[in-house]
Amino acid sequence: MKIVRPGLNRPDWTTEVTCKGDWNSGCGAVLEVGLSDLYTQHKHDIGGARTSAHCACPACGTRIEIHGVTAFVTTLPTCEEWEAANPDLVASMEKAGGEIRAMREAAKAKYGEREY
Ligand SMILES: [Zn+2]
Repeated sequence: MKIVRPGLNRPDWTTEVTCKGDWNSGCGAVLEVGLSDLYTQHKHDIGGARTSAHCACPACGTRIEIHGVTAFVTTLPTCEEWEAANPDLVASMEKAGGEIRAMREAAKAKYGEREY
């Protein structure tokens, strides 16, 4: 038998996601996400409180929810812990996010507010 994609109990586990965050703010980059990229966030929604796994796109800073890792969520760092451990990544994401926001603001100034 051959393992096609390692399970969550393996340190070399990865998954592929497309950057498409909340409010369609993602940049569309295709990312290979590993365990060290994941952190948890608490959410309150219609289903009540829950904890979910997220990563941040290095190209634009968008936060992306990663599905299918529920069994593993309790072993992940919080967002604050992950950001404290990855200051360089956080700085480059903030820079990229700022550049994209500036592009959106410039487009809004030129073309006005648009619905997508
Ligand atoms: Zn992105």
